[in-house]
This record gives sequence, C-alpha cells and structure tokens, in this order.
Amino acid sequence: ALLLGLVSWAYAQTNAHLNTKLPIEERITLLMDQMTLEEKVGQMNQYNGTWDFTGPRPEGGSEKEKLEHLKQGLVGSMLNVTGVKNVKAVQKIAVEESRLGIPLIFGYDVIHGHKTLGPIPLAEAASWDLEAIRKSSGVAASEAAASGINWTFAPNVDISNDARWGRVMEGAGEDPYLGSEIAKARIKGFQGESLAETNTIAACAKHFAGYGFAEAGLEYNMADMSISKLHNTVLPPFKASVDAGVRTLMNSFNTLNGVPATGNKLLQRDILKGDWQFNGFVISDWASIRELIAHGYAKDANDAALKAVEAGSDMDMASHVYVSELAKLVKEGKVKESLVDDATRRILRVKFELGLFDDPYKYCDEEREKSVIGSKENHDAVLDMAKKSIVLLKNEGGLLPLKKSGVKIALIGSLANDKNSPLGSWRLASEDGTAVSVLEGLEKYTDNQLVFEKGTDVTIGETQFVNELNINSTDFSGFEAAKNVASNADVVIMVLGEHGFQSGEGRSRTELGLPGNQQQLLEEIYKVNSKIVLVLNNGRPLAIPWAAENIPAIVEAWQLGTQTGNAVAQMIYGDYNPSGKLPISFPRNVGQCPIYYNNYSTGRPTDKDNNVFWSHYIDVEKTPLYPFGYGLSYTTFEYSNLKIDKESYQQGEEIVISVELKNTGEFDGKEIVQLYIHDEVASIVRPLKELKRFELVDIKKGETKTVQFTLTEDDLGFYNNQGKFIIEPGAFKVMVGESSIKGLKGEFVLN
Ligand code: BGC
Repeated sequence: ALLLGLVSWAYAQTNAHLNTKLPIEERITLLMDQMTLEEKVGQMNQYNGTWDFTGPRPEGGSEKEKLEHLKQGLVGSMLNVTGVKNVKAVQKIAVEESRLGIPLIFGYDVIHGHKTLGPIPLAEAASWDLEAIRKSSGVAASEAAASGINWTFAPNVDISNDARWGRVMEGAGEDPYLGSEIAKARIKGFQGESLAETNTIAACAKHFAGYGFAEAGLEYNMADMSISKLHNTVLPPFKASVDAGVRTLMNSFNTLNGVPATGNKLLQRDILKGDWQFNGFVISDWASIRELIAHGYAKDANDAALKAVEAGSDMDMASHVYVSELAKLVKEGKVKESLVDDATRRILRVKFELGLFDDPYKYCDEEREKSVIGSKENHDAVLDMAKKSIVLLKNEGGLLPLKKSGVKIALIGSLANDKNSPLGSWRLASEDGTAVSVLEGLEKYTDNQLVFEKGTDVTIGETQFVNELNINSTDFSGFEAAKNVASNADVVIMVLGEHGFQSGEGRSRTELGLPGNQQQLLEEIYKVNSKIVLVLNNGRPLAIPWAAENIPAIVEAWQLGTQTGNAVAQMIYGDYNPSGKLPISFPRNVGQCPIYYNNYSTGRPTDKDNNVFWSHYIDVEKTPLYPFGYGLSYTTFEYSNLKIDKESYQQGEEIVISVELKNTGEFDGKEIVQLYIHDEVASIVRPLKELKRFELVDIKKGETKTVQFTLTEDDLGFYNNQGKFIIEPGAFKVMVGESSIKGLKGEFVLN
C-alpha cells in the first residue's frame, strides 16, 4: 500500500501541470520544475517534418536522429507536417514515447488559405476591407486547424516599397498605417477570440525586422536605415500585432544596420520583449541561427547559438544549432540558464493557451478535417475576398462592365487558361491546378461567344523554390492565331502578367514589365483590335506605361486564389462593382524603385505645377504610374465640404474631420475614403503625406453620406532618431479624398 501510495503521489506530482484549474503560469512552473536542461532546450528546437509519419519509421540518417530526438523530448515543434493522420502520428510519439509527454506545436506557412485559397495577401490588402480580411484569415485558420496545424507563420507584416522584391506579394504594401490595420485584422482572423477554440491557430508576425527593405530589392540582402525610419515605417505593424495579442514573431534573414536580425538584441530583447512587453515567443527564420556564421557574425555553431539566444531568439527553426549547442553552453557557464528558462516558458505558455496539454489531439479530428476543408462556405468566403481585392485601374469610355449578351469576345493569354498560376505563391503542392481559371469563369457566365487563344506562354519552373533564371517565352508562333481571333471579336480580354511563382520568396526581378514577349503580344493585338480589357495577374506592381496610355480598360486581378475565374467574371459583367485601391505604388519604370507616396520634400523649390526644381529623371516622369490609394469604380464619386471642427487644438483634444461623399454615377458602389496628414515643421522631416485613417463607405447611386474621422494627438506624433515617440506642436495639413494624390485640403494647428 505504501508503494502504491508513493507511486500515485509521484504520478500526481509529474502530472500536476495537467490540472486545468490552475492558472497557466503555475502549470508552466510545475512542468518546468521537472524538466532537465536538455528537455528545456528541446522545447526551443523545431524540426522540419520530412517523412511520412504514418509509414514505417526511418532506420538511419538524419530522419532517424529526429525520431530519436522526439522520443528523448528534444523537439518542441515541427513544421511542414500537415494532415490529421500525419500530425497525429508525430504527436503520439512526443506524447507517449517521451519522458514528460510534452505535446508538439505544429507550424505551417498558411499564408493565404490552407486548401481553399484566398487571394495573395497583397491583393487582399487592396480591398482595405478589414472585416473581409479578418474573415479570410479565419477561413484559413479553420482549414489549417482541421488538418492538424495549430500555428501559422503569418501574417507577413513587412512594409516594402520596392516592387523588385518578390515578397511584396506576401505583405500589405508600403504603408505602415494600412499595414498595421491589416496585420491586426489578420491576427484576429487567425487567433479568433481565444486559442482555446478548435478552429483558431496561433499567428506569427514576420519578419522581424527590416526584411522588406532588402537593398535593391535583392532577396535576403542587407537593410540599412535610420532609427527613425525603423520606428516610423518598419516597426508599426509589429507593434500593432503585439498589441493585438499575436502569440509569436518570426525574425528575419537580413542584417539590420549591420546586425543580423536573428542576433539582434536591440530588436528582440530591448524593443520587443522590453518596451513592448511581448510575452509570446520568437522563432528564427529557416536556419537563420546557423546563418549567423555565413553572415560573418558568429564563428561557428556554438557561437551562433550563444548569440541568438542572448539576442532573444526563442525557437530554432531547422538550424539544429540549439539542440546541439545550448545545453553545453549553459553547463560551461557561457549562457545563463535563465535565458533558456525564459524561452521555454514563453513556448510552453503558447502550448498551454492552445489547450495542447488538455488535449494534444485537439486538432486531429478526421471527421472535422473532411467537413471543414473545401466547404461551400469557405469557397463563398474566398470568392467574396477575391472580388473585393480587384482594383480597376482604367476604364475609358465605360468599356466595362461588358454586356451579357450579343458580344463576341476573344480571350487571349496563357494565364487565362491556367488553373495553377492564379493560386499564387505559398500554398500546398497538393492544391495544384485547383483554381477556377478566367476562361472557366467567363465561359459559363454568359451566352456571349468566347474564343480563346493563348498567343504566348508565361512559362517558369512549376515549383515554389527554383533557383534558375526564369526564361520566359520568346516564341512568337501563337501570335497569328491570337490576332485572328482578336480581329473577329467585338472585345478582346487579355490576361497577362506574372505566373504565380514569379513572385514570392527568392523571386526578385530587375524588370517590372510584362515578362517574356507579352508586351509585344499586347501591342500586336492592339493593332488589329484596340477594344482591349487587360486583366493583370501579378504578385507585385508592374511597370506598364504603354498599356496605361493605350489600353482602354485595365483590371488589376493579382492572383486571386481558388475562385479567381468566378471573381473576374462577376466583376467584368458588372455583377460586382470594384472598389479596391492600390496598397503599393506602381512605378512607370523599374529605375524609380523604391517609389512610395510618403516621401519627404527634397527641399528644392517647386513651381506652380508642383514640379521640383531639378529633382527629376530626364528620361521618365518621376510620379508613379498609379499611386498608392488609387482605384476606380463603375460609378463616380464627388467629395465636398471638408470640415475640420476647429482651427487649433490643445494637446489631448480630439480632432474631428468630416467630408461629404456623393455617388454621382450610375451604379451603387463602395468608396475607400482616405485621410492623410502632413506635419509642416518638425525636428525630423516628416513625410509629405501620411495615411492616418480610412473608411470603406457603401453608397447607393445618387446618395450622399457624411464621413467623419477622429484623430488624437498620438496620430500626430512620430519617433525620433533615439527611437523615442514625440508629439510636437505646430501646423498640420490635412487631405481627405480618393487616393494619396487627390483630395480636399485643409489645415489645423496643434498648440
Ligand atoms: C521564410 C519564412 C517561412 C519559412 C518556413 C522561410 O524561408 O522566409 O517566411 O515561414 O521559410 O517555411
């Protein structure tokens, strides 16, 4: 009896952390008290899941080592394991075969949907529709959660204003305010009200920080910037994410002002965990801890582990460096055990919050997997998001919307018949070919006669990670057939642009025109029939000055995901009135990059047309082709009556600004009303314009609405070069209108 008693006492001790009545912090302590140093370090180790866990166990090599580590409690997380069967099989090893049975957390790049794919993130950002974006991330979360995943490496909150960088497709564009609002919406969508639910997953704001400012748009390149730029432009969406309760952050590959982000104490310890009081955990980017060596920042794996942990990187993605070096470093007295404890506590906290200790198989319900994934509801949601992401760039003579009958249409461009490319970068390979193509969408939508000719190909390697150059088609043999169908048509719809894998990670470009010979195709078709609707597919801004000048209708349709063809058809036929606005500036020419609306005055005098003396290019106009915040509708809007409730304000007073908006056209529509400010004189030069508020207004034809915004003094402040937030009195300009270059103007003074 004594023995039995002892055994059950010991059992109660080892399982004390499973008591759901205790507060999480206490449960963590109870568990950590039992953990060896190696087991704690194990929590900080994430492995890539590369074998079929439902099949026979690996008998040798690194796979066998991973399996052994799982059994020894030396793994805290796996990435790239998906599907209930697989996740369950690995979780079972961790829970049943390791000493303490600590469940794993399963991470995956759920970037714009898991199986039912929504538009690429940059496209979604063009909707400026925070509620739709929240819902879209919610759909992604529910499908990921139903397939065993409980953690997404999203949202990407990297601000970037350089279209050469392939990962602009993954963020929310160039503006820190819009980027912050969208980051919050996405985090709410992924994480829901509570991580304890079964259809929510932990989010990860990435890449901390500066990754979007890779020099020359070259992937992984260094980022160098002033401290004020870091705080005013790069960090706001991360801060907003932390304030919105994001549970994890991912650091980044790049150096920031000479220090790799992964080894960056200023970013991770001082700002994130210090100033912002972040209590979730930081994961490295893929092998970025080991890359401290290649960066020339650490001399070997041991040094890399030391520098990364001191800088506040809590979990090692795929470097295998923490698991091999950290315990040794602690034992030798080179790393304080308290750093390991802190990281372990952060990781365990998120696992407890997810409810993994209460039910490690919470995300492993095969019935749910079948019913949730690809449901009608999810398809409806991504279709809705897809339509909202479309931006109408040009519509001369009201060419769009098209009539539903009696129109002979020629559909040209291989992307129109592509069921893969519209899915965009970052997705499961198993979803290949599942998009509704534009051809399919248009074909069944009306009785209009529709003839398709590809004209040319947009060909690239079909996998997400290829390292060779994209050799685009220079084959002109399809031009004649395309010209034939075009010359016999009333209207030509041309779907041109980038293949879905021409943007994304490792996809920097030095040309921003239509790849391959698509520009020539466009010009040849134009010669035989100029009534062209150009539907652009792309993951980044394109420089298309000739099209902007000559083609009557241009639709920015990005890569809209699974429902692409249906979304495009509804918009083209007027069953959906587009309302998207660009979240990133489109250059005329790649040489303008980086180009963005919130730049500074050059200090040079301007003439009455706002031309700045000698600050220009002598070969191309310096303005963007399409500016930030720009986008048309089938209807027209008129702005009037800008009111600022006072001329001057005391600190602490609210600033109320209103404007009247009238729908003056022939369609019901939606308008994104944007408010910009400019701080006229400051101790650090402030941008000529900064977006501070926006509202998506639903407005019937003929209707007038008053749109009101409230600013507080916090909206008027900025970070200085010591990284300190300050608010300075003085005069402010205001602009409220339809884009970053068009609106009604006013001003006020802050005392
Ligand atoms: C990317 C991350 C991604 C990770 C895991 C890295 O190459 O930079 O954004 O989450 O891979 O797939």
